Amino acid sequence: MQKSIERIAGESEGVSYEFPLFRFAGTGKAAPSAYLQAALHAGELPGVVAIDALMPMLAKAEAEGRIKGNITVVPWANPIGRAQYHFGEHQGRFHLGTRTNFNRGFPLLAAPDAALLPNTTLGSVDQRLKTRLVQLSLGHDIVLDLHCDDEGLAYLYVHTSLWPAMADCAAAMGVDAVMLWSEDTDGTFEGASIMPYQNVPDDVAKLDRRVATTVEYRGILDVDGTLAAADAEGLYRLLVTRGVISDTALPAPGPFTGVVAPLENIEMMPAPRAGAVLYDVKPGDRVAKGARLATIVHAPGETNGRTEVLAPQDGIILTRRSRRIIRAGEDLLKLVGDSKSADARSGTLED
Ligand SMILES: [Zn+2]
Repeated sequence: MQKSIERIAGESEGVSYEFPLFRFAGTGKAAPSAYLQAALHAGELPGVVAIDALMPMLAKAEAEGRIKGNITVVPWANPIGRAQYHFGEHQGRFHLGTRTNFNRGFPLLAAPDAALLPNTTLGSVDQRLKTRLVQLSLGHDIVLDLHCDDEGLAYLYVHTSLWPAMADCAAAMGVDAVMLWSEDTDGTFEGASIMPYQNVPDDVAKLDRRVATTVEYRGILDVDGTLAAADAEGLYRLLVTRGVISDTALPAPGPFTGVVAPLENIEMMPAPRAGAVLYDVKPGDRVAKGARLATIVHAPGETNGRTEVLAPQDGIILTRRSRRIIRAGEDLLKLVGDSKSADARSGTLED
């Protein structure tokens, strides 16, 4: 394993950012390669501790000569967001300098060719970071971007061109759900990892062996040793299942039995009033149409001071907010409906 330090130039003299990169060299020329990164949203740490638990497993496999495909690991992909504190609170989701989401604005290349990457020498520092992360990940068959939600199940975003081919990955990782998407106009990292392969010849696209996903490892507070160990096992199983690592002792994963739904089925449930949220449901709950999901207490103690929010259709609760104060119009939760949402918001992932 080789460790190196990536450096991203800041926007003024004397400022730069660094993050470590780990490379394991595979011994099999034809084996698929893998790229893993965590904490692009810099405060989303379940993936960081999962990688921490995975690294000794990779080191053991390397010592035993079982790493077949090249593996690149970036445990903490966003040193800019990692350092952002505002009034004492960590701000890892948006770049404070540009107000841009760290998981938007990635270059969506027409082909998987680093020569097509934009020159960001005179761009903003977050653009330089994004361009570098795409460059580092390009050429890998498997690209995993580890995030988490607010409170939630473990789930994946997967482009429709990779489903159901990636069902073995979902089963290996042991996630609860898979959300299928088809259009990325905002430039998520996952979009930047799959869109370059959409209009190129089959022998370049290799969609049968390609894996690209945004992994949502439950909620922001689910930074836990037991979960991290289980997630590391899941990542390891994926790498074995896809032939990046050889491990004959490991049984192949069974069929994926979790929820699979297109993004159009997600009900985001905007809050009708501002106030305190009393949830009736938590991630994983199955609900029927008309069931009460939450009550907003907007005028405490007053007649008609509470407003109930009901399920618009049958489905399963995927996520909810971790904070209990809400403004009118903010999304209360994600309900994966059994059919298309009347309020379907096209395209983009909500990670
Ligand atoms: Zn995220």
